[in-house]
Amino acid sequence: MSQKKCPNCGQWSVWTNNYKDRCEHCGAYLSPVEMERQDKFEKDKEKNEKDWMFYINPDDSSIVKFFKKSGNLFYTVFMAIMTFIMWLIAALPG
Ligand SMILES: [Zn+2]
Repeated sequence: MSQKKCPNCGQWSVWTNNYKDRCEHCGAYLSPVEMERQDKFEKDKEKNEKDWMFYINPDDSSIVKFFKKSGNLFYTVFMAIMTFIMWLIAALPG
């Protein structure tokens, strides 16, 4: 087990390489930078999911979910075909 100096109170505290570890003495996060980065990562992920064509909202009714899932599947297949066509054009001589 390793230890890390608390950025808040300056005392040494147990550190398990987890960004969620808190100081034993004052309760502050031992790695606020890492914490922030993780927080930003989670928000970016959420944003990317919502930017996706048909974001499936947990509150949607099952019929809406079905159509959104179909839409996403269609979009994925469509993109795969487009990628294949682009590859085909690029692979063709001349
Ligand atoms: Zn502390």
